[in-house]
Amino acid sequence: MGVYSDFERLWIWESLGDRLEWYLGVSVNRYPAKYLIAKRVEIPVGGFDEIGSVDKGLEIYKRYTEDFLKLWRDVRNGEDISRLEVPRYSLLDLARDLVRAIVRKCIFCRWKCGVDRVEGKKLGACMLTTESRVGSYFHHFGEELVFRGTHGSGTIFFTSCNMRCLFCQNGDISRDRFNGIPYTPRELAQIAFLLRIEGCHNINWVGGEPTIHLHSIVEAIWYLAKEGFRLMPRGSELDKILMAKADAYIPYPMDKRFALYKGEFNVPMLFNTNMFLSEESMILLRPLIDIWLPDFKFGPGRCSVRLSRTPWYFETAARNHKMLYEWGENMVIRHLVMPNHIECCTKPVLEWIAKNIPGTPVNVMDQYRPESYADPHSPHFDPDAYDIARRPTREEIIKAWTYAEELGLNYREITFEKKLSKRAIEGLKALIQ
Ligand code: SF4
Repeated sequence: MGVYSDFERLWIWESLGDRLEWYLGVSVNRYPAKYLIAKRVEIPVGGFDEIGSVDKGLEIYKRYTEDFLKLWRDVRNGEDISRLEVPRYSLLDLARDLVRAIVRKCIFCRWKCGVDRVEGKKLGACMLTTESRVGSYFHHFGEELVFRGTHGSGTIFFTSCNMRCLFCQNGDISRDRFNGIPYTPRELAQIAFLLRIEGCHNINWVGGEPTIHLHSIVEAIWYLAKEGFRLMPRGSELDKILMAKADAYIPYPMDKRFALYKGEFNVPMLFNTNMFLSEESMILLRPLIDIWLPDFKFGPGRCSVRLSRTPWYFETAARNHKMLYEWGENMVIRHLVMPNHIECCTKPVLEWIAKNIPGTPVNVMDQYRPESYADPHSPHFDPDAYDIARRPTREEIIKAWTYAEELGLNYREITFEKKLSKRAIEGLKALIQ
C-alpha cells in the first residue's frame, strides 16, 4: 500500500477524480510534477544573456511550452521521464530567468506597474520590492477535502496583496507588507520540502496574493527541481525555516516516501490566487502549476472598484479562467457569496462559469463574515462597505446554491463536503430543488 492510500481512497474522488486526475496523480507520486517535466525540455540557447529581452524570452518560452505539452501528454500515456537527459538550459531555467528580468519592470499582475522592484525607488500597487515575506506556513486542514486530504495542504501564506478588499479575511498579512519573515527563494524551497516530507498533499502558494511574489515562487520551484532531496534544512538553516512554521510544535513524522517519484523530489504545485494576474504570468505558470485554485469574486459591475479598489477585475478573471479551461488545466474555482451581492456578483459569475467553462468544479462558499474594513465594530470600518457589513442570510445562501443547481454547475461535492456526508448532500440537493 502506498503512503497516500488513505488519501486516494477518499470518497470525493468518485465525483472529482476525472476533473482533477493530473493533480491526484502527482499528489500520490504516480506522475511527476510539471516542474520535473519542464526541467527536461531543452531550449537550445546558451542562457538568458543570449536571448536578450523579456519579449523575446516570452516568445521562446511560448514556443517551447509546445514541447512541454507534448512531453506532458506522453507522461500521461506512460512515458518515463527519468530516462531523459536534463539539458544544459531548459524551459524551467528560462522561467526563472524571465521572472528575474520581469521584476525589474514588473508586469506580474494586471496593474502592470512597470516599476523596477530590484531598485525599489518606486513601488507598484502591491508596495513590494523583491523581498518575499511569509506570514506563516503549516499543514492546512481547513481547505477543500481534495486539498487538505488526510495530511493537510502545505500552505505558505505570503505577505501583501495587489487588491484592497475591504472585507479581506487575511487582512493581517495582506494589508501589512512588513508582516512575516523574509525568506529567499531557496529557503522557500526548503519550506516546501519540509511540508512535503511531512506528508502534505500539495504546496499551496497563497497570500495575500502569490502573483506578486512570482519571482520568488518560480525560483523556489526551480530549486525544488534542481536540488530535490539535497534541500533538507539542518542546523541554523532549519532554525530560520521553522520561524514561520505555525505548527512546528506538532511532531509530524518525516518520510522521504511522501515525496518520491523515481528517485526525485515530487510534489504538486497549487496556485491559490485572486486571478488578477497578467497574461504573461499565466503563460509563465502554465508548465509549472499542477492545480489551480482561483477566486472569481465579482460580477462585471463596479463592485470590484468599490469593495476591492480594483478596476478590470471581471474581465481579467474571466480571461484567465478561460485560458485555464482551454489549456485543460486542473482547477477548482472559489466564489464567496457576499450579502447583498447575489444579483450583481454571484449570479453573473455563476452564469459566466456555466456558459464559458462548464463542468469546472466550483466551491460556492457560504462562510463570508465581515472582517477588516467591513467589520462594523472595528474602528477601521469603511463606510464603502455598508452593504457587506453582515453575514449573508440563510435565504441568500440558498438562493446562490439554487442558482448553481439550476445552471447545472459542478458545485455540490466541493461546496458541501465539509458540512455533510455524501448521503446528506443528496438530501440537500432535494431541499434546494
Ligand atoms: S506585482 Fe502587480 S502590483 Fe506589484 S508591482 Fe508588479 S504589476 Fe504592480
